[in-house]
Amino acid sequence: MTLLEARGLRKTFGGIVAVDDVSFEVDRREIVGVIGPNGAGKSTTFKLLAGFHRPDEGIVRFDGEEVTDLGPEKRAQRGMVRTFQIAQELTGMRVMENMLLAAQNHPGEKVLAAAANTSSVRDYESDARDRAEELLKFLELWDLREEYAGNLSGGQRKLLELGRALMAEPDLLLLDEPMAGVNPDLTDRLLQRIMELRDERDMTFLVVEHDIEAIMRISDTVIGMHDGKVLSKGTPEEVQSDERMLEAYLGG
Ligand code: ADP
Ligand code: MG
Repeated sequence: MTLLEARGLRKTFGGIVAVDDVSFEVDRREIVGVIGPNGAGKSTTFKLLAGFHRPDEGIVRFDGEEVTDLGPEKRAQRGMVRTFQIAQELTGMRVMENMLLAAQNHPGEKVLAAAANTSSVRDYESDARDRAEELLKFLELWDLREEYAGNLSGGQRKLLELGRALMAEPDLLLLDEPMAGVNPDLTDRLLQRIMELRDERDMTFLVVEHDIEAIMRISDTVIGMHDGKVLSKGTPEEVQSDERMLEAYLGG
């Protein structure tokens, strides 16, 4: 049942202990939210999981195999994908092009198969187009498919970032503040989509987010961090009423 496992993770920067003996598990088909005050170690934990940082100590396991020494691309190949902000050079490209490029960048097996002969290249391209169309409709971005990414609102861009990550068909999606800068209407839609992807496509999510209300609404399990440590873990109700969490926020 466990898809992602963090075991004894520790990361220091000079004298600062950013992440201190962090362990937890994420089950398949689970939405796990990570909350905590500024400086709690959320982003560093995220980067350790995504492969941007190597831990000083501890291991990361995905789907039963250790991935601690793999970089982000290798982890993505195994089905562990993170969203990333639309890069500057992609803002001058259209929404549909952005989606197709995300598929092209995905170093999956299909690309290798496609390289083998031209007819499968064509299959791969039409497959990617179909997938992009389906996802853009799902994210309610289809009417904007010919719009330049740079002209999208902040919220629409977040949806496009989600769409680009979904082009890789990940088993686990790592989201760093997906709700930041998104207006309340779009936030609701984004949260709704995440829950649908869990229910309909058996996807697993790990979400780092400042918007506690949003996290509490969608998460099956919440991890509360403080001072680089996991302070509390449980259902949203359990973590919300945990005295240690209340203290960590108030005493911030
Ligand atoms: P959060 O995302 O919960 O706000 P971070 O993981 O960003 O927390 O930071 C945890 C601690 O580690 C903070 O004290 C932060 O200043 C420090 N830190 C994070 N990244 C770096 C870095 N690259 N270099 C130096 N210190 C860092
Ligand atoms: Mg952060």
